[in-house]
Amino acid sequence: MEKAFTKKKALGQNFLTSDNIPIRIASVCGADENTGVIEIGPGMGILTKQLVKIAPKVVAIELDEELIPYLNERFQSQSNFKLINNDVLKCDIDRILDTEFAGLDCCVCANLPYYITTPIIMMLLEGGYNLKCITVMVQKEVADRLYAKPREDGYGAITASVNYYAKVVKHFKVGAANFSPRPKVDSAVISLIPYKDKPVKPLCEKTFFEVLRGAFATRRKTLANSLGAVFGNRLSKEELQDIIAIDHSLTVRGEELSVAELAKISDRIYMKIEG
Ligand code: SAM
Repeated sequence: MEKAFTKKKALGQNFLTSDNIPIRIASVCGADENTGVIEIGPGMGILTKQLVKIAPKVVAIELDEELIPYLNERFQSQSNFKLINNDVLKCDIDRILDTEFAGLDCCVCANLPYYITTPIIMMLLEGGYNLKCITVMVQKEVADRLYAKPREDGYGAITASVNYYAKVVKHFKVGAANFSPRPKVDSAVISLIPYKDKPVKPLCEKTFFEVLRGAFATRRKTLANSLGAVFGNRLSKEELQDIIAIDHSLTVRGEELSVAELAKISDRIYMKIEG
């Protein structure tokens, strides 16, 4: 039985209402007898309840201090459960992995608070943590963006950044009726499997991310013009056009190019600048 609790919209508190969806999320998140779980935002513990059944260790990170006594009481008999009251973006994930998951693999599983979906995903990927898998429920539109291909609707900087770090796997859609309060949009569960050996290896990551930022900043502009806004102080218009023209027409736009193609352009820019 769940305690009466006023949900906080500002913390993205749309809670799942039945065990069916948490059971399905837990079954695809990669937890097993050798793989513990970091859960972000346990809320009232509906997903946690499934995770503690299958993982040797579950560390749940919850920002809302009002939920802490309730969660500690609910899982007090569960010796594999640990609760951290903090903002996940301020946590030292490496330290948690070292101190709580020694000798285990670890995955992340979460019904993410929608207001910080992208910062959380990027923090987990950019940190380069030793995570087997990151399984998250996000708004369906965000999920669609993450597995969009070049030229498809929604393909953009976030698609290219996430796909640079990880393989994106779709699982299933979750209708808005499964949450309380009911959100305006449907959700979807996806896994991001961080590459141990990235398929695309730019010569300079900083330049690569500058290219991504420029390429998708202004969707209707040609790539040559968008990159001019970022590299104009280091390369002439003609130099940028020459670099792009090696493989593409000068009318090409950023959203037409794959991560590998953008990395190739970033390598040429880097070599020209470092010359
Ligand atoms: N897991 C529960 C469920 O599925 O019903 C709750 C999910 S709810 C969408 C998101 C949860 O994340 C809430 O419990 C909220 O308080 C928590 N949260 C919000 N911002 C957070 C942050 N920065 N760090 C950790 N938890 C956060």
